[in-house]
Amino acid sequence: MRQIRVRIAPSPTGIPHIGNTRTALFNYLFAKHNQGMFLLRIEDTDRARIVAESEKAIYEILSWLGLQWDEEYKQSERLDIYKEHGKILQEKGLAYEDNGAIRFKMSKEGITEWVDAIGEKHISFENKTQEDFVIIKSDSFPTYNFANVVDDHLMQISHVIRGDEFISSTPKHIQLYEAFSWKHPVFAHLPVILGPDKTKLSKRHGAKSVLDYRDEGYLKEALLNFMVLLGWNPGGDREILSIEEMISLFDLKDVNTSSPVFDVHKLMWFNGYYIRNLSEDELFLRIKDLGLTIKDEQLAKKLIPLAQTRMNTLNDFYTLTKHFFEEPEIILDEKEKEVAKKLLDVFTNVLAWKKEDILQFLKQVLEQEKTRMTMFYKILTGKESGLPLPESLVILGKEKTIERLKRII
Ligand code: GLU
Repeated sequence: MRQIRVRIAPSPTGIPHIGNTRTALFNYLFAKHNQGMFLLRIEDTDRARIVAESEKAIYEILSWLGLQWDEEYKQSERLDIYKEHGKILQEKGLAYEDNGAIRFKMSKEGITEWVDAIGEKHISFENKTQEDFVIIKSDSFPTYNFANVVDDHLMQISHVIRGDEFISSTPKHIQLYEAFSWKHPVFAHLPVILGPDKTKLSKRHGAKSVLDYRDEGYLKEALLNFMVLLGWNPGGDREILSIEEMISLFDLKDVNTSSPVFDVHKLMWFNGYYIRNLSEDELFLRIKDLGLTIKDEQLAKKLIPLAQTRMNTLNDFYTLTKHFFEEPEIILDEKEKEVAKKLLDVFTNVLAWKKEDILQFLKQVLEQEKTRMTMFYKILTGKESGLPLPESLVILGKEKTIERLKRII
């Protein structure tokens, strides 16, 4: 059997989002499942649309997610190849010069058709709807349609797995393959991801660049798991999948023919799940890797078990524990000040600074002052909720707690 070779062919025209990264993941899984090759090809021939930083972001995202490619190419380094292939078509009488550009002659009779691997769907276009199109521009750069086909052939791509926005370009591609007398690869067009309101996915639905997710403290495991279920169904109601399980189960025939819906809450849920499943040491390392400075590593390690069950993103660690590392700004009203004085009184008398004792004293003040726990939070941390108070105060220490109370009173 022919070796499986797939590729992702991103154009560096923006920072990759969930859509094109899901395409990368599906290609990767398909290659690995079939002991095939996964290629990365930067399609940078549309010079006017190039966005600085986006090429770097493509590499960064794939590396972060662990989607390691086996070969890499860059179209701007292959201009001679396209030129030469343009000439071949001209010599065959299938392309012609037009104001300095070269245009491909599309056949206008009959139909162009293929069976798409997604849902074994038969797709066909009437050729009379097609027009001749530019393959090499006057700046001597090839167009996407041309370079894409030449490269897929020369790189021996067996399956083209890409977003379904390319379906309408596929007749052009197929006619190019035919013009060269090449066999075309299998096409698999993935249904586009939609927002919850069934319109095209956008920032409005909480979708953003994959680098943003990383920087906000999403784990790569959570993002991979979330993305793989956008259009692929492993069978049953299985939801939690490691990358190894995805590789062993992935099959194009299980890709849905209807559009998946992006649900940012589900992504958050996966992230919380994966955070809770990390060991404490690993979680500490991930928080550190995020690049935020941890002033006191010993203290941070003590806080991890308390915070872990309450975090949905790695950044939540900072929000939840900030007041341990720096003195929070706490502004109290008269009633709160009264209660703070009470707390100061009882805490000064606590002998063993243990969570049971602290809890006991908190309850006592709670009853006497007819107040609520949220007020204690506000007095001691500046926020109305957070990590469990008795445990937090143990970690903060008696001395610091008393100092803090004195300061705010
Ligand atoms: N350069 C195209 C893109 O940016 C590649 C499409 C394809 O995979 O053929 O998505």
